[in-house]
Amino acid sequence: MAELWKGAPAAAALTEKLAVQAAALRQAGVVPTLAIVRVGERPEDLSYERGAVKRCEKVGIQVKQFVLPKESSHGDLLEVIHQINADRAIHGCLLFRPLPPHMDEEAICAALDPAKDVDGITAGSLAAVFTGRGAGYPPCTAQACLEILDHYGCDLTGKRAVVVGRSLVVGKPLAMLLLGCNATVTLCHTRTADLPAECRRAEVLIAAAGVANMIGRDHLAPGQLVLDVGINVDQEGNLVGDVDFAAADEVAAAVTPVPGGVGAVTTSVLAAHVLQAAEQSQSQK
Ligand code: NDP
Repeated sequence: MAELWKGAPAAAALTEKLAVQAAALRQAGVVPTLAIVRVGERPEDLSYERGAVKRCEKVGIQVKQFVLPKESSHGDLLEVIHQINADRAIHGCLLFRPLPPHMDEEAICAALDPAKDVDGITAGSLAAVFTGRGAGYPPCTAQACLEILDHYGCDLTGKRAVVVGRSLVVGKPLAMLLLGCNATVTLCHTRTADLPAECRRAEVLIAAAGVANMIGRDHLAPGQLVLDVGINVDQEGNLVGDVDFAAADEVAAAVTPVPGGVGAVTTSVLAAHVLQAAEQSQSQK
């Protein structure tokens, strides 16, 4: 049986450290503050927002919510982003996406100051992840994978890491983060010639494809550390990952569950980024 790598203990350990960091900032007169921007009332946004607010409360981060009706104009949302950029008391901004189709999402993301982009949605943030220079933060989900590996004592140096999925939200930035930890990284996608073989070669296998249970026995090898980023609904309406959990449980050394794995760590990473942004703004005073 594989070791079960739940996200909650990693999130709790990080939260404890962050609370100390937030208290120090408050002592120095800085109230770390996150702006949450939501257009409309999509249930998944509301659920993530509740989790983020709760996490921020635990850490000692103030949250300012900006909620726009879904029929708001592109200009209305742009105005909110400009307001957040200009407000020195706001250190980070979480913007829920996708935006309604009548809004130009790329232009909205581009308008956000990368120094406040705590979820890696601007080109500036991604450039920072790729170059190691400049303002910005990696997407929280990508970094949550590293937090879990770190929490459970995995040293990535020299390890063969295989990521399934090459999106800008997870796969690509995650590949850069793994590389930064000295792993040897392979990125797989729909055109990968022999996906099962690529996956079997991995010591650390991270699935972020968005296809329910696609990583099966064929893709797995004994001793692997398997992280499941996928969040999918199966035919019975259950929330499942990209990894066939039973197969991983039988073969791998460790596996993260869905729900309760990588997803459970993202709000802690978000809080960590807000505190980094607050510290950064303080050092620039
Ligand atoms: P995208 O749809 O943007 O990207 C999916 C990627 O997976 C693409 O690069 C695609 O390849 C690849 N892919 C899809 N099907 C296959 C396949 N059969 N074989 C190989 N590669 C495949 O998804 P995201 O990156 O946004 O999200 C991925 C998953 O992670 C989703 O389930 C999503 O819900 C979840 N997620 C979870 C979060 C969390 O907090 N835990 C946060 C964000 C996302 P190609 O480029 O060739 O099309």
